[in-house]
Amino acid sequence: MEGRLDLILTDLRLPTVKRLALELCTQSDREGWPGNRLLEALFEHEINEREVRRIERHRIESALTSDKRLSSFDFSAVPSVSKAQVMALAAGTEWLDRGANVLLFGPPGVGKSHLISGLGHALIDAGRRVLFVRCSELVQRLQTARRDLRLAHELAKLDRFDLLVLDDLSYVRRDQAETSVLFELIAERYERKSIAITANTPFSQWGEVFVDAAMTVAAVDRLVHHSTILEMNVQSYRRRAAQAAQAPAKRVRATTTTATTLDKTAPCAPDDVTRDETPSHQPIANNQ
Ligand code: ADP
Ligand code: MG
Repeated sequence: MEGRLDLILTDLRLPTVKRLALELCTQSDREGWPGNRLLEALFEHEINEREVRRIERHRIESALTSDKRLSSFDFSAVPSVSKAQVMALAAGTEWLDRGANVLLFGPPGVGKSHLISGLGHALIDAGRRVLFVRCSELVQRLQTARRDLRLAHELAKLDRFDLLVLDDLSYVRRDQAETSVLFELIAERYERKSIAITANTPFSQWGEVFVDAAMTVAAVDRLVHHSTILEMNVQSYRRRAAQAAQAPAKRVRATTTTATTLDKTAPCAPDDVTRDETPSHQPIANNQ
């Protein structure tokens, strides 16, 4: 492109127009386009590429593992999870506007982090903002913020994310519970901004991660009020994959079937409240 126009487009921060101007102007001259067609073509390219760059920025800031997508998640390995329900959460993102939550329960290795990451990627593709963080790390960050009298500021910074994924709630340490920052985060986002939580312990054991029983009930109450609960009580996917690699093909099939059936009774159901499989749950208790 000629020097002056080049400079103008740099100044206006229109990199795509700058890159395509020569080619499209030449085509326009050759084919005798009306002026508005040329302008439209150039700016349409600029808008499309901006959107692509924006989504890419959102993907980087999300800290999601890049290869944990819904497309690589084998739903047949987790019969208790409805693929249609997960796909509906990925396709219709209005639940984020209501601040609805997603809670995933199951023992280690069953694909909780993979599934919620896949959903996170789909939401980013749909133009939303997501942050994936280990729950204990975030609690530590918020505790430091509280000590420095910056907690409100730190919570407000998390507001830019439509979905905050707290991975491995059960690994929050007892001594971390004492400052109640996790509860404040949950209360702050309640009915405004969505939270997703993965946990390998049922609600009844969440007393370990909150200060006391009343606070645990109040936190669970807020989380389940508008939530989709996904129970993943199967055998570890990794362990099954390892077994499958070792055993002859025929035996593997039998082993897998047995394991899946047996594990339906595995002690990881998130308490009675989750037996109801409707997406929106009633609060399990009234908070004061
Ligand atoms: P969890 O968070 O429940 O401990 P992960 O999501 O970390 O489990 O899964 C453990 C490993 O197994 C990961 O590498 C994950 O990609 C893989 N995995 C688990 N479940 C599935 C599945 N249903 N389909 C594909 N990969 C899976
Ligand atoms: Mg995990």
